[in-house]
Amino acid sequence: MTPTRTRPKIAVIGAGWAGLSAAVQLVRRADLTLFEAGRKAGGRARASGGGSHGFSFLDNGQHICIGAYRSVSALLTRIGVNEQNAFLRLPLQWYLHDGLRFQTAPLPAPLHLAVGVLLGKNAPLGQKVRLLRDMAALKRHHAAARADCSVADWLRRRRVPRKLMTGFWQPLVWGALNTPLETASLNTLAHVLRDGVWAAKSSSDYLIPKRDLGSIMAEPALAYLRRHGADIRLSTRAPQPCPLPDGRISIGGETFDAVIMAVAPQHAAALLPDDTPADIQTAYRNIRHHAITTVYLRYARPVALPAALTGFSDGTAQWLIRRGALGLPDNEIAAVISVSGQCGIGKAEDWAAAVHADVLRVCPDVGEPLAAQVITEKRATHAAAAGRVPPDLAWLHRRRIFPAGDYLHPRYPATLEAAVQSGISAADECLAALKAV
Ligand SMILES: Cc1cc2nc3c(=O)[nH]c(=O)nc-3n(C[C@H](O)[C@H](O)[C@H](O)COP(=O)(O)OP(=O)(O)OC[C@H]3O[C@@H](n4cnc5c(N)ncnc54)[C@H](O)[C@@H]3O)c2cc1C
Repeated sequence: MTPTRTRPKIAVIGAGWAGLSAAVQLVRRADLTLFEAGRKAGGRARASGGGSHGFSFLDNGQHICIGAYRSVSALLTRIGVNEQNAFLRLPLQWYLHDGLRFQTAPLPAPLHLAVGVLLGKNAPLGQKVRLLRDMAALKRHHAAARADCSVADWLRRRRVPRKLMTGFWQPLVWGALNTPLETASLNTLAHVLRDGVWAAKSSSDYLIPKRDLGSIMAEPALAYLRRHGADIRLSTRAPQPCPLPDGRISIGGETFDAVIMAVAPQHAAALLPDDTPADIQTAYRNIRHHAITTVYLRYARPVALPAALTGFSDGTAQWLIRRGALGLPDNEIAAVISVSGQCGIGKAEDWAAAVHADVLRVCPDVGEPLAAQVITEKRATHAAAAGRVPPDLAWLHRRRIFPAGDYLHPRYPATLEAAVQSGISAADECLAALKAV
């Protein structure tokens, strides 16, 4: 008689999008315990903890997804979320108040972009042709698998005109990589473009949340996990996992067969076992971050922004989101300021005043804001720097500790898609390792 194999007992530490995706991947095949230090699940992509302050909703930060987020989409389908109820899907639009404006054309790739840019407005034809030539050069650079360099170095080598630097590449890199041009990885940018804008028209679509991120992901994911018997412990900070002599892991005296460590890198450093080799500890400690600030403003009158996403090449706000376009109250806007540490603004009222000044450039008659909420995440994302190498996980895997998180994705910057893909990989690696025991 073959012995009956019992389900492994697995702990997932961290209920951000990486931990939730790992937990959903594991819950039907393991006895699962999910630890989350915060009161709410969702991590950096969660509904704001401080209430909505009279706004239709507030998130910890304005998030924008793209059609290329296939693992996010598959996960949402699995936990029963309908994309149309959650997001507004729009063709990629580039609308700068003070620069180039185009929208992808309803044609197959790569014509969707080429025709879209050539039909674009507010920029001379020469500039649009130059942009397409630089894009084609980046595609060739990527196809040749050349060594990484910073986006700024590459643009300088190609003598890209200043107008295109400030009116296209800078806002693109800030938005996609949340990293300054001088350090941003050209290869990471090319991976994002390859899977997004260059892949297919639908991959480049924007998906803008119409509801708070908690109701889109964290709550349905927790409900799915509960339905499948997971033990969910919110407001519970897991202590450092301790490998036991028999190969299992103790967490605060409870024994597990394996652990998914789905916390941000600055928190992971504190959870690594004491005997973790110095190079792994150093790799974790050396991960650098950049801030993102989100400013929500509410006015008495509708804010008639010209596009769902209106950008500025020289504003404090890089993008203003017209919430009316999402079916939300049309007197609310959200503003995104990536790499916001470089702005030198500290106080919430100064952020609100600076963003309001940008709104006035487009809507001079909007009046004064009635309410403002400013949220700065100092460690919003890790720096997507040229030559960045994620920590080597082999030693931890041998101790049945499987890290997951946006910072571990080998090709993408810190995004929801990177977090979800990393959670799924960690879960699969964990199950494969336990099977081999
Ligand atoms: C303001 C802002 C704007 C952003 N905009 C976008 C965007 O437009 N598009 C996009 O794709 N991405 C965006 N991102 C990035 C995206 O939010 C992250 O990449 C993603 O949420 C990271 O998920 P994660 O699960 O890897 O980590 P986290 O979200 O950090 O999750 C880790 C979890 O672990 C928990 N934890 C830590 N220590 C412990 C412990 N000891 N025990 C238990 N729990 C613990 C934490 O509380 C947290 O919930 C943005 C991020 C921010 C902050």
